[in-house]
Amino acid sequence: MQFKSTDIGIAHKLDKQDELAPFRNEFVINEPDVIYLNGNSLGRLPKHTVDLMQNVIKHEWGERLVRSWNEEWINLPTQLGAKIAKLIGARHDEVLVTDATSINLFKCALAALHARKDRLKIVSDIFNFPSDMYILQGIIDLLGKRHQLELIPSADNTTIASSDIASTIDNKTALVCLTHVAFKSSFMYDMVSVTEMAHKAGALMLWDLSHSVGAVPVDLNSCNVDLAVGSTYKYLNGGPGAPAFLYVRRELQEKLNQPIRGWFGSKEPFAFEKKFTPASGISRFKIGTPPILSMKALEPAIDLIIKAKMERLRAKSILQTEYLIYLAKQWLIPLDFTIKSPLKPESRGSHVSLSHPEAYRINRALIDSPPPAIKVITDFREPDNIRLGVAPIYTTFTEIYKALNRMKTVVEEKIYKQYSTDKPAVT
Ligand SMILES: *Cc1c(COP(=O)(O)O)cnc(C)c1O
Repeated sequence: MQFKSTDIGIAHKLDKQDELAPFRNEFVINEPDVIYLNGNSLGRLPKHTVDLMQNVIKHEWGERLVRSWNEEWINLPTQLGAKIAKLIGARHDEVLVTDATSINLFKCALAALHARKDRLKIVSDIFNFPSDMYILQGIIDLLGKRHQLELIPSADNTTIASSDIASTIDNKTALVCLTHVAFKSSFMYDMVSVTEMAHKAGALMLWDLSHSVGAVPVDLNSCNVDLAVGSTYKYLNGGPGAPAFLYVRRELQEKLNQPIRGWFGSKEPFAFEKKFTPASGISRFKIGTPPILSMKALEPAIDLIIKAKMERLRAKSILQTEYLIYLAKQWLIPLDFTIKSPLKPESRGSHVSLSHPEAYRINRALIDSPPPAIKVITDFREPDNIRLGVAPIYTTFTEIYKALNRMKTVVEEKIYKQYSTDKPAVT
């Protein structure tokens, strides 16, 4: 869509035409003067989660106590996995909700390397999420430092060229491990073609979907993806530290053994056998007792995304990020900002990164300005990026308008100069 005016009337009109607009009312939103563009880091709280958790704590925990394991809890990891499967194009028995994304990546990557013992190369990319890199580095140490991690380069630090992917993956590659939508630039890989490149070379393909699930449609089965992991507290709105998920292609499940053997991943946890026998199917990727309170909070959140439908969410997200980029071009580029995300929507996730030499202080001014100024919650990523996360299930066009307009004011009027460059623990 071509935008032709920076008049706020356009934003109002787009909100009026938005068929997903009623979903915003499903979330707790109590501060009208706070614009939240950080759903890519921690999604908003669904109203239904508040009521549900009251019951989980008072009734399921408080009254039913240990009986709730059989009544409500024991199958949650696979039940919720089956729901997430609908969002990522997987079969119901291929997804498990468990552990943190980093731990799932460890389990999946190590299982994959064991299955490709004759090969010693792991491929990732130069701007992958640091935790993913640390996990891979740790695995290499653990396996006796025999493997090499080769990173696909990026000429502009924003996108990855197809030719560079092709020349990095070769017939020595055991595993290709990439994040589908990059945490900083929002660059999105073509999952079909990259997975095919990995398979042609004889490697296994592991995708991290942390910035994809709930933000962009993913079809793991049609791409024949082997393994995937992802977070649930970002666009899925599962809550702080909500357990992550993992996916293992059905045909591979019995061939892979994950390295952390715990009783929940054994065939019969309550037989208390001395020797470990892995559970069949996806359950062998479990480790220990699941965090039930966090799991329970996830369900209403996933249900909302399923109800809103990924295709509709994606269409709205594209329109919103296009609108954001249009306003940035009109207002912010003249003020020394640079767009650090792909301009083509098919190569972009649901957030947009803008860089500026004073990005850190601008970000602080956006978040901390006292009334009557509005507050805009974005986040800062080193060295000079401000990330603007669009969560189409609750973000409005008017919010995007007001946020970009506020950024313009903060820089034009040099409001950011009142803020310190000291950084808190979480930026
Ligand atoms: C958010 C994110 C994670 C988070 O990992 P946790 O172990 O759940 O904290 C991992 N990888 C990527 C790409 C992410 O964006």
